[in-house]
Amino acid sequence: MAVTTVAQFAAQLNRPAAALLEQLQSAGVAKQSLDDALTESDKERLLEFLRSSHGTAGAERKKITLTRKSTTEIKQADASGKARTIQVEVRKKRTFVKRDDAPAGSDAVPGPTAEELDLQRREEEASAQAEAIRKQEAELAEARRVREEAERAAREAAEAAAKAAAEAAAKAAAEAAEAAARAAAEAAAAKAAGTPPAPEPAPAPVEPPKPVEPPKPVLRVVKAADKAAEDAAKSEDLARRRKAAEAEAAAIRAMMAAPKKAMVAKPPEPPKPDPNKEAIKGTIHKPTAKPGAPAPAGAGTAKPGDKKQVKSEKLSSSWADDAAKKRAALKTRGDAGGNRPGWRAPRGGARRGERDGGGGSYTPTPEAQIQEVHVPETISVADLAHKMSVKASEVIKQLMKLGQMVTINQQLDQETAMIVVEEMGHKAFAAKLDDPEAFTEEETAAHAAAEAVTRPPVVTVMGHVDHGKTSLLDYIRRARVAAGEAGGITQHIGAYHVETPRGMITFLDTPGHAAFTAMRARGAKATDIVILVVAADDGVMPQTKEAIAHAKAAGVPIVVAMNKIDKPDANIERLKSELVAEGVVPEDFGGDSPFVPVSAKVGTGIDTLLEQVLLQAEVLELKAPIDAGGRGLVVEAKLDKGRGPVATVLVQSGTLKKGDVVLAGSSYGRVRAMLDEDGKPTDSAGPSIPVEIQGLTEVPQAGDEFMVLTDERRAREIATFRQGKYRDVKLAKQQAAKLENMFEQMGESSAQTLSLIVKADVQGSQEALAQSLVKLSTPEVKVQIVHGAVGGISESDINLAIASKAVIIGFNTRADAGARKLAENNGVDIRYYNIIYDAVDDVKAAMTGMLAPEQREEIIGTAEIRTVFVASKIGTVAGCMVTAGQVTRNARFRLLRDNVVIYTGEIESLKRMKDDVREVKEGFECGIKLKNYNDIKEGDQLEVFEVKEVARTL
Ligand code: GDP
Repeated sequence: MAVTTVAQFAAQLNRPAAALLEQLQSAGVAKQSLDDALTESDKERLLEFLRSSHGTAGAERKKITLTRKSTTEIKQADASGKARTIQVEVRKKRTFVKRDDAPAGSDAVPGPTAEELDLQRREEEASAQAEAIRKQEAELAEARRVREEAERAAREAAEAAAKAAAEAAAKAAAEAAEAAARAAAEAAAAKAAGTPPAPEPAPAPVEPPKPVEPPKPVLRVVKAADKAAEDAAKSEDLARRRKAAEAEAAAIRAMMAAPKKAMVAKPPEPPKPDPNKEAIKGTIHKPTAKPGAPAPAGAGTAKPGDKKQVKSEKLSSSWADDAAKKRAALKTRGDAGGNRPGWRAPRGGARRGERDGGGGSYTPTPEAQIQEVHVPETISVADLAHKMSVKASEVIKQLMKLGQMVTINQQLDQETAMIVVEEMGHKAFAAKLDDPEAFTEEETAAHAAAEAVTRPPVVTVMGHVDHGKTSLLDYIRRARVAAGEAGGITQHIGAYHVETPRGMITFLDTPGHAAFTAMRARGAKATDIVILVVAADDGVMPQTKEAIAHAKAAGVPIVVAMNKIDKPDANIERLKSELVAEGVVPEDFGGDSPFVPVSAKVGTGIDTLLEQVLLQAEVLELKAPIDAGGRGLVVEAKLDKGRGPVATVLVQSGTLKKGDVVLAGSSYGRVRAMLDEDGKPTDSAGPSIPVEIQGLTEVPQAGDEFMVLTDERRAREIATFRQGKYRDVKLAKQQAAKLENMFEQMGESSAQTLSLIVKADVQGSQEALAQSLVKLSTPEVKVQIVHGAVGGISESDINLAIASKAVIIGFNTRADAGARKLAENNGVDIRYYNIIYDAVDDVKAAMTGMLAPEQREEIIGTAEIRTVFVASKIGTVAGCMVTAGQVTRNARFRLLRDNVVIYTGEIESLKRMKDDVREVKEGFECGIKLKNYNDIKEGDQLEVFEVKEVARTL
């Protein structure tokens, strides 16, 4: 074995030899010169010394951990909606490990759990403690080294003293010193070995036999020996404590690394007796085990890479648990808070959900609320959007998708609105809930419950002008007044009732037929029986026919009063036959209409007439309840200067009393005053009794229904609602009965009837037209002439058209100004013709529902392209030869190449020589410029055609 000198060793270490020598000397290796040989043990000793002097004592110092702590707060709303603050402490930890035995990458791990943080903290504390102890040990070692040097110096001094003094005494002293030194050395060795040395102090330098001269060094030696023993004990204590601290740190490290999975995954089975755990028992929290969580195998071999996931899992579990608890709490409170839309779960909760495969029922994404939308008869786009809680533009967009271009203020009908609502994912209901009219059902029910008793008939007198209507009514009334109280007729309120021996009759004295039809047009049925007055000396006249048409359209039985029989030229038989021709057949002819000859002037037959009316009423079995809230019709209404809105109403059922809250059409009010037909105050009116009432807020319209409500507030609500509704309905139903949509209307109704009113200039045309039209009837569609007459179109015709949803055909006649206005306001379709066949064709087309003309292509010619010119300003022009038919400038073309259509377009210009021409005939050449198309070649064919609109026929 080669001998290494100090100089060589220094060279090997690349250090100054003098410094190495010094270090060697410090380490207790006595080498004096650079040439002294170094043994292996010398090197070991130096190494041991260097280690201890630099504080790295053996295998203990394997890792250094740097930790930085930061604390943050998170504000988070919990399940109950309460904001709570969560303190989050993040410790950034960086561990430097000796490479030989440490796995790589065990560095910074963010986001530890509280338990882990705790563990970490404890581990660090333990490490720090161990570190501190190690430091103390190092200090102790240093102190020991200093002491040893001192001892050595003392020893040398003692030797010198012994030489100088007595040999024996010195020897004894030297022996004592030797013993002390040996003891100290032994103690040091014991410390290094870690075995608890005997605490006995070093063999004391028992009294030197001859305490001669130098007691001082001896004393020092004794002191040094004491000190050494003390040090030995101390170092032993330190070593023990350090070991304990290191053991704790190691245990915690083991906890943090290995059993991490067990912490989250292991069910709370009896914990294994782990010596590490035992060591730290009571100092760390018991890991909160999650039962039911997936238990990954191989716990205990945690890799640093697992750390993050495991940690966040743990963290989120606790949050998710929190949320779950809160939800459970809410549920027990009867609140479905767990599914509350818009409530967001904490992030952890959601993530847990992902991992668990959505084990929780809770969905964090807020969903659009499904609304229950009650759609009234008409609704504006804006209102509809509001009801669905969406923007109006969304509704407009949706309608566009459905092919309807609407504006925000446009009124939609109920069906369209409901489709839109359904399309947008909401539930649509035909309005009922927010329709106050629904409340009136209660009253209706009360009516139905009340017992119905026979009521007097309501009669309207109709007939041609000057045939004696007024005279008849006057006579009847006069007779009644004469029979009743004196005082005469004080007031005329448009309706009155008369008592006859056989019963009571109520007359509606409405001028002309207008009011009758106007009321009927509004859907109100006031009249039970019509008295048709026909002058026996005059016969059937236009207005007679009109009256018959109205009565028949309303389905009201007719009682014919053949008036003026006192006149010598009265001809009852002729009159009868004329009426039969109009479809009014007398009972003695096998019909159902009683014919009564009367004289309004002298009073002949009036009683019989009234009797016949009552007979008809009996047949009709007219009944109405009395013990119920009054309801009926507004016959007339006006705004009186002194009394405000005044309405004549006809009670149809129940009883109307003074002080009742009345709803009449879109007006309402409390009945302040009630007058009978004679202008006398009255307190109540039963069925078929007309009265005049005051107290309404607005003037109702003739024909409006009225009813008594129990609640004024409700009456006001309904009136307000109706005011809006009427406006809306009017807007939405602008086009009532138009020939164009007649087919649709027919399709809707089961009857499939096309109603027409025919007015013509002369009787012949009217009859011919009416017959031709009726002949159009097919098994599916029946053409019905509601009324046919000679003369201009009057308001009465329009009202009849409204009432019977008919279309008016005017043949060589026109509507007067009043009728035109009425027709416009009500959307009645009036069509004028001067050729019968046109009218017939139109009706035919209307019946097929194909009034829109059909577009048909008609090929008018072909041309062949012979040359192609390209003019810089104009473009490409085809030089053509018309090979068949003709080419016109306004025509369209198809460009054929090898008989394949390659383009269809319009002709832009057509020239012959240099002149623009309208058409070019077969066999001529021409120049054709095609609109927006230039890709033409010689030999291409142009097929020229025109689009003709052809009305469709049956
Ligand atoms: P209205 O236009 O239908 O209301 O008819 P009026 O009641 O005004 O009667 C028109 C005219 O016929 C009046 O001059 C009456 O005097 C007359 N008149 C009415 N009824 C009779 C009758 O029964 N006999 C006679 N001779 N004249 C009558």
